[in-house]
Amino acid sequence: MSKVVKFGGSSLADATQFQKVYDIIQSDKERRFVVPSAPGKRFKEDTKVTDLLYKAYNATNKSEFHATFEEIKARYQDIIDGLKLDISLDNEFQIIQDNFEKKLGEDYAASRGEYLNGMLLAHYLGFEFIDAKDVIFIDEHGNYDIEMTDPILSEKLANVEYAVIPGFYGSLNDGTQTIKAFSRGGSDVTGSIVAKNGKVDLYENWTDVSGFLIADPRIIKNPAVIQTITYKELRELSYMGASVLHENSVFPVRKEGIPINIKNTNSPTDPGTLIVESTCHKPAHVITGIAGKKGFATVMIEKDMMNSEIGFGRRVLQVFEDHQLSFEHIPSGIDTMTVIVNTDEFIDKEQDILAGIHRAVQPDSIVLESDLALIAVVGRGMKASRGTAARIFNALAQKNINIKMIDQGSSELNIIIGVRNCYFNQAVKAIYNEFID
Ligand code: ASP
Repeated sequence: MSKVVKFGGSSLADATQFQKVYDIIQSDKERRFVVPSAPGKRFKEDTKVTDLLYKAYNATNKSEFHATFEEIKARYQDIIDGLKLDISLDNEFQIIQDNFEKKLGEDYAASRGEYLNGMLLAHYLGFEFIDAKDVIFIDEHGNYDIEMTDPILSEKLANVEYAVIPGFYGSLNDGTQTIKAFSRGGSDVTGSIVAKNGKVDLYENWTDVSGFLIADPRIIKNPAVIQTITYKELRELSYMGASVLHENSVFPVRKEGIPINIKNTNSPTDPGTLIVESTCHKPAHVITGIAGKKGFATVMIEKDMMNSEIGFGRRVLQVFEDHQLSFEHIPSGIDTMTVIVNTDEFIDKEQDILAGIHRAVQPDSIVLESDLALIAVVGRGMKASRGTAARIFNALAQKNINIKMIDQGSSELNIIIGVRNCYFNQAVKAIYNEFID
């Protein structure tokens, strides 16, 4: 058995965190491939090294550049000193400074956080350092180039026992060796690509929480941790706002059937959350998680005999498509059709869309409301248990919360509830308390 271990920025923010990471890796010989982020925040008001690098690169004057660059150097020197490492990054910093002056690009600048952290960690662990620029290739839109990366990376990993591969960047796939980064949080993606090509059995993603929480801790005090979640459930929850992994980090491992285990560097014996393709593990609760977002608008279109007008729905949706606006849900009645959209995306195009709908289907009326919050109650356990919807409605009714919309996906994996924005937190609490205590 072998594993990829990816450590987020807070897990590698200073020497004390490095020590924890060292202990975690050394305690398990199966932890063969290590993917580090750049040093993150050491405390709440601290700045991530990645942000310092962007700042230094975009500095408008010399003194701002030097002050920021010194700050970055100090972050790494503190780690070197704290761990008494016999390594100097002076040469590397000279090269980086020269390349900043040559304006090698923002991606180059940002990637140095992971690059330098990878060098330190490889030295500390006694593992081989593999520069991501030689083995990971990324297109101009920031997506990983499978055809170019997989043969090179898998060949490299087949011939090394233990290695550190920095996260977040690779080379542009045009053969120029230009450094290209993924979008922010992209070390998760690197971990997934390394897991796939290293043909490992498990991708451990180490962070500073003991797994995904059933609900947002800003709404529910100390919510329970999700033990096992399927990729589909994860997709539903992250779509509805639960901040979890980088969204592109799932598909490389998912295709290979490699599970992801979210673990806590500060509490390594906690089991964390296991993300799997499918599972026979009975979920601890009927629902796996609750997530939601405020700020949706509803466009309610009314027309007598709408139901018998073939092509009505298509014509309405065409108007939204013509304005490059995606819709969230379309609940309908006999003579009404409602299109739910994100208010921020809708607001500027509102009048054009209304005019478009009038032209397309000549409705009797159109009513706009912009006060909707959507809550997704997600769980593979719903399929096998009766009365889930009843329990949700009952919990909300008891708190006097009016439900403005209901949508149950055909997969019976989720139930979406629409309530007024002002009831959002209360509704999440009521549902949480109904299913989890
Ligand atoms: N260091 C990068 C960021 O802050 C990438 C990562 O941590 O995954 O976004």
